[in-house]
Amino acid sequence: MGPRQVILVAGINKIVRDIEEAEKRVRQYAAPIDAKRLGKDTPCTALGYCTDCKSPNRICNDFVVIRGQFVKGRIKVIIVRKYLGY
Ligand code: SF4
Repeated sequence: MGPRQVILVAGINKIVRDIEEAEKRVRQYAAPIDAKRLGKDTPCTALGYCTDCKSPNRICNDFVVIRGQFVKGRIKVIIVRKYLGY
């Protein structure tokens, strides 16, 4: 299932220490900014931080963790030495 090749491109601002820090970054930094950009009716749009809401407009519904890959070389990660996105 899925594409033969997967290429992930990310700026250095997306590098964090561990899974816990990654989720914290998504909820407390990236999601509030993106929710505000999209005009979502969520607490983080108004407050600028996450309240772990159950809003139907919740923007942070999926957290995907890739721990491995059966097909060697299928997923490539390109880290760009710039701040990209949120
Ligand atoms: S859980 Fe709600 S308040 Fe927290 S980041 Fe997601 S949408 Fe915003």
